[in-house]
Amino acid sequence: MDIFQEATNAEETLDPPDWADVGALSHRILDDAIAYLEDVRNRPVWRAMPAEVRAFFGASLPRSPAPAADVYDDVARNVMPYPMGNIHPRFWSWYMGSSNFTGALGDFLAAIQGSNLGGGNHAAALMDSQVVNWMKEMVGFPASASGTLVSGGSMANIIGLTVARNVKAGVDVRERGVGAMPKPLRYYASDQVHSCHRKAVEALGLGNQALRRIQTDAGLRIDIAALKAAIAEDREAGFRPACVIGTAGTVNAGAVDDLRALASVAAEEDLWFHVDGCIGALIAIAPKNRSLVAGIEQADSIALDPHKWLHAPFEAGCALVRDASQHRNTFAVTPEYLESTPRGLASGEWLHDYGLQTSRGFRALKIWMALKEHGVEKFGRLIDQNIAQARHLNRLIEAEPALELMAPTTINIVSFRHRLDGASEEKLKAFNTEIMLRLQEEGIAALSDTTVQGRHCLRVAIANHRTRRDDLDLLVAEMLRLGREIEAAIPV
Ligand SMILES: *Cc1c(COP(=O)(O)O)cnc(C)c1O
Repeated sequence: MDIFQEATNAEETLDPPDWADVGALSHRILDDAIAYLEDVRNRPVWRAMPAEVRAFFGASLPRSPAPAADVYDDVARNVMPYPMGNIHPRFWSWYMGSSNFTGALGDFLAAIQGSNLGGGNHAAALMDSQVVNWMKEMVGFPASASGTLVSGGSMANIIGLTVARNVKAGVDVRERGVGAMPKPLRYYASDQVHSCHRKAVEALGLGNQALRRIQTDAGLRIDIAALKAAIAEDREAGFRPACVIGTAGTVNAGAVDDLRALASVAAEEDLWFHVDGCIGALIAIAPKNRSLVAGIEQADSIALDPHKWLHAPFEAGCALVRDASQHRNTFAVTPEYLESTPRGLASGEWLHDYGLQTSRGFRALKIWMALKEHGVEKFGRLIDQNIAQARHLNRLIEAEPALELMAPTTINIVSFRHRLDGASEEKLKAFNTEIMLRLQEEGIAALSDTTVQGRHCLRVAIANHRTRRDDLDLLVAEMLRLGREIEAAIPV
């Protein structure tokens, strides 16, 4: 008996000794979280971290315990006040969503319920498949298509491009590798294609040169005649044209390739048609603008990003593949320790057979809860709202002689800059960069910058359900103020 007693005392758990204490702390965290979001507009969009906060993250590995309340206090003091800022109404850098409270509750509950979405016969797995089915419906894919939730758009694109490679390889590439392919494959995309595609073709063993960047027209859309010419040239030179990547919403300027035209080129030339819809695939649910992405439903595969225009808390991406068997044949492996059983927990399909991960988080719940709460139509209206806001900013810029548009505004991305009379491109870049940095440092707004067709510009990407038009009015006013201040301080 003594031995058993001793063993029991020696066993530890991560559970708290007293659940009531945990309750009090959890309620405090929840109250703080609600206040945090309620007040977000009144805080700076971004602020630099003081030295003591930076130093806090150099602390060594904790060896002894600390009360959970103290742990939370550390987080409240050093982490919560210094966010990236993308939940703020005036965050328009790069391209990301602004999260939502119900989605955050979903992430919390997913962690509490704790399931691994590698597969298995349980409710979270059914919900994962249901959310994939909803995504298919949103973009007009058939019910027979397949899909998988992944970390984000980059992974979703890798999934699509990998299926394309395996289908077009001309050899059992899973077994024999890219070295055994009778002809090297070629992929095509516009010169505005997102950098993740480069990483994808490199990781797939095809090499960066296998991805041909095709020139774009004045609207920054892929030039279809140039695409056809490149395909013909490659065939002639002994390559196998395998895949065309259309972008529905480029990251630089929000251009939308002519997806219908790309679908017919792909059909004529026997190419896989992949759509990078990380930004724009979900325009398919926006009643006023959905015609912009017409043709997306003809793709063989689509990458989309619920953590962008569905505002799911990071991370949530989704890959969809029209032919479910091609998708499964690319990734399915059944090791002896993951065989299905006729009944019980391991019955049914394994979700890890549709991608590269084995263990998978319960990403579906945060998407599911927000979609149930608001309904898909509201998300569609919010997309239309952001596009209308971008057009509003576009008009403000056109009306303001000190500002200049740098690319056409198609969706929710506006590329522009402050003018500086007689200044060189180099000087303009330095001047506009300074405006951008001061906007960030003064906590007013977060913009990013890019280079479009060789010219530096500032960039406002409005994928934000908290932005209002007066935020954009304020941006223009503050840019003009900063422009005057900087111009006065640094003579041209
Ligand atoms: C954001 C984005 C990606 C990458 O998606 P992540 O979710 O950041 O991995 C790919 N393509 C385009 C067009 C994007 O805007």
